[in-house]
Amino acid sequence: MTGAYLSIMTEKIACNRCLYDTSHPLGLVIDDDGICSGCRIHEEKDILNWNERWQLLEKLVKDYRCKDKRNYDCIIPVSGGMDSYFIVHIVKEKLKLNPLLVTYNKYWNTPLGIRNLANLRIRFNCDILTQNVNPHSVKRIVKTTLRSFGSIYWHCIAGQTVFPVQVAVRKKIPLIIWGAHQGMEQVGMYSHEHEVEMTRRYRKDHDLMGYEADDLLSDFDVLTERDIWQYRYPEDEELNSIGVRGIYLNNYIRWDPKAQHELMISKYEYQTSKFDRTFDCYDFVDCYNYMNLHDVIKYYKTGISKVTDHAVREIRHGRISKEDALDLVKYHQTFDPLYIDMFCDWLGIDEKSLQYVLDMHRNKDVWRIDDNRNWILKNKSNTNFKNKFVKDFSFKINSSFSRDFDDGYITIGKGYP
Ligand SMILES: [Zn+2]
Repeated sequence: MTGAYLSIMTEKIACNRCLYDTSHPLGLVIDDDGICSGCRIHEEKDILNWNERWQLLEKLVKDYRCKDKRNYDCIIPVSGGMDSYFIVHIVKEKLKLNPLLVTYNKYWNTPLGIRNLANLRIRFNCDILTQNVNPHSVKRIVKTTLRSFGSIYWHCIAGQTVFPVQVAVRKKIPLIIWGAHQGMEQVGMYSHEHEVEMTRRYRKDHDLMGYEADDLLSDFDVLTERDIWQYRYPEDEELNSIGVRGIYLNNYIRWDPKAQHELMISKYEYQTSKFDRTFDCYDFVDCYNYMNLHDVIKYYKTGISKVTDHAVREIRHGRISKEDALDLVKYHQTFDPLYIDMFCDWLGIDEKSLQYVLDMHRNKDVWRIDDNRNWILKNKSNTNFKNKFVKDFSFKINSSFSRDFDDGYITIGKGYP
């Protein structure tokens, strides 16, 4: 990355190429040519020698192969969605390592997510460990994080980023293999050549919105030690004694989630589902809430939905124009979230109280109340789209997660192939 970057503290400035601007919560900079750091780092994907980078990865993992076959070679955090299949495919089939899969139970599982996870461990013939934190504590945490900083997803992100690290320490398996580093992929926080690894600091600042488990305890008195201890990151001393490190595959493989998912669909029957609030039907199929309630909260707090991240990614990969991407964003972000009744049932609150709390977290720079007492976006141009069906831009839908939704979440499921 070259060139002088303008440091923007007040006025937000938009990227000339993608849909992000300098208000992005992960932080980005715009260079003298008006291009954001995320787009610049993406350019490396077409410049770097990926054969060489693959060899770096092979060399890196060499020392972690368990010599006497009495332990696993590495840990892979997985779920019934996201990039799980691709990571296991690379680690098991290409690097020929013996991974232990670990998964954190979010409780908001779709039948499709349970099925994808079962199919994953069966097809790849892997052992898996599941962390089920007791549901009373999870509900107390969700109530607290929702009320205090408008997040239902804190427990999911905290759980899925800490459980693999705890297992690494407990089972003495130092290497954890993740898919993509979000700060790199979205805003170009690092170059691929920095080979950035997992840190406690990034997890707290970005994944956990600045709140470690203990911060919930000190600020809000409903939670007790018993509720949050499972979400505590191991001490540095423990990590160092095992030599725990977490690497990201996108530093070594040209990362393209759409192409990767399509390979996993054809090779291992990964199943996908249509969403109202985005065109990407690959990523979040394991959860009833991510692309619904969670995404709407993001929209309330920032004026930006997940569909923007998906659209930016597709612009950068050259599969869609900026104009069409903007239309897709405007179209999808207008949909109401689904499955709110299931969430309220599960949490034991009524829908009116939920809406009251959600409105408390609306960003008043982005939203205002109109004469009919409805919340509307201040920037009306964000809702006018010309063409909602963009041609030649298709994601493959081969299943659906709404089939059993009258039955509620599958809180714990062993799955079926
Ligand atoms: Zn950009």
